[in-house]
Amino acid sequence: MSMQNLYFFCKNIKIYISTALILVTVVIDDQANADPPHRNADSVFVNPYIDEGARKPNLLDKVWWKFKYYMIQRPLVNDNFEYAVIPPEYVNPPERFNSGAVTWVGHATFLVQIDGLNILTDPVWSERVGLLNSRLGLQRQTAPGIPWEKLPPIDVVLISHNHYDHLDYPTVMQLEQEHQPVFFVPLGLSDLLTGWGVTHTIEKDWWEGDSINGVKFIAVPAQHQSRRAIHDHNTTLWSGWVIEASNHTLYFAGDTGYFPGFKKISKRLGPIDLAMMPIGAYDPEWYNALYHVNPAEALQAFIDLDARYFAAMHWGTFDQSEERLSDPPRELLRAARRMGVDQDRLWIFAFGEKRAIPSRLPEETITIQYDDKQ
Ligand SMILES: [Zn+2]
Repeated sequence: MSMQNLYFFCKNIKIYISTALILVTVVIDDQANADPPHRNADSVFVNPYIDEGARKPNLLDKVWWKFKYYMIQRPLVNDNFEYAVIPPEYVNPPERFNSGAVTWVGHATFLVQIDGLNILTDPVWSERVGLLNSRLGLQRQTAPGIPWEKLPPIDVVLISHNHYDHLDYPTVMQLEQEHQPVFFVPLGLSDLLTGWGVTHTIEKDWWEGDSINGVKFIAVPAQHQSRRAIHDHNTTLWSGWVIEASNHTLYFAGDTGYFPGFKKISKRLGPIDLAMMPIGAYDPEWYNALYHVNPAEALQAFIDLDARYFAAMHWGTFDQSEERLSDPPRELLRAARRMGVDQDRLWIFAFGEKRAIPSRLPEETITIQYDDKQ
């Protein structure tokens, strides 16, 4: 072999080895990114990151707690907190908004206005949520921040799971009748909505997405469960949603416990500009810890997500747990001080408050180049 041939042989072998190494890294990385299976052999959905069997509260303990809490304990709790509310006459969401804004309605309901699309997350306007089409169940403690008649045309609805405080039959049907939006739902929920008479549903497994007018909606993992009746436990999936718009990426967590998925979401779909995070329904810990983050865990999730802003939700609306309804934001701010998170990044909304999502680039870095030959 001449010197020249030897040179090219060595050069090529270097390229082959580098390519092989890159391929191996991609495959290993993909395997590390893949979730463990989230459906078992009986087609029941499971939380892949925890051994639920060992820590799951049993049904009898849950029923007894509910009886004790709602009948004896809660009537004795005095929570005279004055919630910050934008007076309804000042709540006027624009018909369309291009650059990105969110308005908090209450609980897990946000109106997201971005790239000209109007999106609702887990919409609930009912006075109660629960059985018999929400005639029986938890009573709303604070009015919806946007009066129904002031809603702009709704294009897309994101549903995180089938619990009554997130999937409210009367609200879904009123949206269907007046707005005909596209309902994005996690795996297994499309049949329920279609059975109710909803015409346009898009059902997604974790990491699957679809676009509407250039905005992409991607279902992402959450650690939770589902149930609407005695026999249907975990027969439909639960998820968060990532909204990829032209200049912003938003994350809506739905209902979730603290789990390693937050880091994966950031790695696969970040950078995230705004994370809509639940902070309420965490006490008692034995009942809630697997499936609901507490404020400190929500903040840790926010750190894992590497998001810029935190929009607090899932508090102040339905009394579902032992902490006082007004406790979660105070606990969140305490946790932020402890964990060294800048409080300006935490958005604790008044009911009906709208906030614009700041641009990713500071103003001074935007430069306009003029062509001096013209
Ligand atoms: Zn739930």
